[in-house]
Order: sequence, then C-alpha cells, then structure tokens
Amino acid sequence: MKRIAVLTSGGDSPGMNAAVRAVVRKAIYHDCKVFGVYRGYAGMMDGDIKELNLGSVGDIIHRGGTMLYTARSEEFKTKEGQLKAVENLKKHEIEGVVVIGGDGSYKGAQKLSEHGIATIGAPGTIDNDIPGTDFTIGFDTSLNTIIHSIDKIRDTASSHERTYVIEVMGRHAGDLALWSGLAAGAETIMLPEVEYNMEEIIDRLERGAKRGKKHSIIVVAEGIGSGVEIGETIQKQMNIETRVTVLGHIQRGGSPTGFDRVLASRLGAHAVDLLLKGKSGLAVGIENNQLCSTSFDEIFSKPHEIDTKMYELSSQLSI
Ligand code: ATP
Repeated sequence: MKRIAVLTSGGDSPGMNAAVRAVVRKAIYHDCKVFGVYRGYAGMMDGDIKELNLGSVGDIIHRGGTMLYTARSEEFKTKEGQLKAVENLKKHEIEGVVVIGGDGSYKGAQKLSEHGIATIGAPGTIDNDIPGTDFTIGFDTSLNTIIHSIDKIRDTASSHERTYVIEVMGRHAGDLALWSGLAAGAETIMLPEVEYNMEEIIDRLERGAKRGKKHSIIVVAEGIGSGVEIGETIQKQMNIETRVTVLGHIQRGGSPTGFDRVLASRLGAHAVDLLLKGKSGLAVGIENNQLCSTSFDEIFSKPHEIDTKMYELSSQLSI
C-alpha cells in the first residue's frame, strides 16, 4: 500500500481537519503518497483529487469544518456512480481510502471496498450515533458549544423567571441532548430514543414551580419534534411564559476541543495503520480509551443505543 486517499463526507464536524491531518502525516511518515479527494464522493466521481504534502495540512488542526469540503451525492449511491469514482481512483493508482464521515458515508465506503479499493472509515459526526466507538469526532466540541449556549440562556431565564425550551441537533440520536442536558442541569431532556409523556413533563415543571423554582430549562433533540410546538404546549397548559431557542448550525462549527483534536489524530492515524496492514471494510473507533476497529457489516447491524443509566441519572438529579 503506497498510495492512499482521504475524504470527508456527509455533515461536517469539528475535528475533521485534525483527522485529515493525521491521515496525511501518518501516511507520509510511512513513505506513502497521499491524495485529498475534495467534496466527498461527488468529488471522487468528478476526479477532484489532488496530491497532498506535509504542508497541505499545516495550520488546520485548530479549525472547524473541513479543508477537503464535504458533500452529499445521490449519484454515488448508484453502481454507475461508484464505478466512475473507482475509475478515478485507479487513474491515480490509489489503493486505499480513508473515509471520514457518518454512517451514510460508511455505506459508501463499504461499496468502495466491495469494488476492490481497500477502505477504512473514521467516525466524523457531531451526533455520536455510530456503533463501534464510544465517541465520534466532533461530538465533544458540539456538546461544549451547546453547554455554553444553555448557560447563557439560563442567565436570561433566571432573570426573567421564564421556562426555556432549547432544541438541539439529533434527528435519530439523543446523545447531544442527553449529555448537554445533564451537563447544563436541564430539568427535562427529550430524546428520540425515549418516549415522552407531556403530562409527566408538566407535572415536573409544576412541582418545581411549587418549591420556588424561578425558571426551567427543557432540552429537546430535534428528532422528537418541533421545540416551538413543545414550547407552545407548555405555555398553554401551564399558563407560564415560555421561550424557545433553536440552536441550529452553530452546533456544527467552531474550533475543535482538545478532546476532539486528540481523538481525531488517534483515529486518523489508526485508519492509516489498518490500511498498511492490508485491512479493509472496517471503521476505527475508541472503546474504553483504547483504539479499536469494527466491520461495516457489524456497525450496520447494530442500532445506536442511548445510555439509559445516564438518562435515569439526569431525571434523578432534576427532581
Ligand atoms: P451525517 O451523520 O452527518 O448525516 P452521513 O455520512 O451519515 O453524515 P449521509 O448524507 O447519510 O451523511 O451520507 C453521505 C454520503 O454517503 C451520501 O451523500 C452518499 O453519497 C453516500 N452514501 C450514503 N448511503 C449510501 C449507500 N447506501 N450507498 C452508497 N453511498 C452511500
């Protein structure tokens, strides 16, 4: 394995740049040539592929987003699209690819490995929703962005004695809502993985109000529905002033935290090690702070699970 490519795909996440840097530098350290595929699988089909050197990835470890750009491509889901992409890789004599992205990107990576290109995935998504790793690259940064936002909202919530509903990202996975809700002391956390009962939520808010609580914070993962509608329901049923903040894309950007930079560096380098050992069809991860790898098949067969003990704890601490 002497020629390796790297790409970022799907939603961007802070730390992707640190992962790209690690892939490039680790591969060059082992005397490989490295190529950047720009705009994910779309760029792979268009032949948007350039050789990278040590300097190409200088000054990016601290930057959010991805220097390789990212894209979603419907065409790559077709066999014709995949063969076009493989042909472009072959033109550059690329034998192995590191795909940094979410589970959709892993599906594309698996197709590449089936077409004979050695492929290793690295989990780049803020959602923390990929089996086979305790943490995904970008989750910690996003979590901290949300916590800082909730802390600020808490100041105004307590000054005005209001209830705030804060909608955070997570269409299918509630990790950002659960971790941020626990870390920011939210009274209620609503996740796609746990059915909610509006009456119970109102009861909890009323109990809080009775014991003199001046404000409440409710963290809602976008996957359970609209934060605006939940805010309106609470306002109507309790007759209390309620405000809603949808945090939106600020959750994706920003300089990666130390944790994400270290995670991205370790995972990017591990992906290169696996390619050099002749492996393919695997994704790298971290479990109990140890590097590991899991086959794409196993990842696709496991549903993402929420830490139910942590969810129970958040309820116990916000009685
Ligand atoms: P995020 O978790 O941030 O949404 P993701 O990697 O899951 O990231 P997707 O849009 O699901 O993002 O996937 C990224 C790209 O991977 C798609 O646009 C498509 O090009 C490719 N891809 C997804 N599913 C498949 C598939 N079944 N076969 C081939 N390629 C796929």
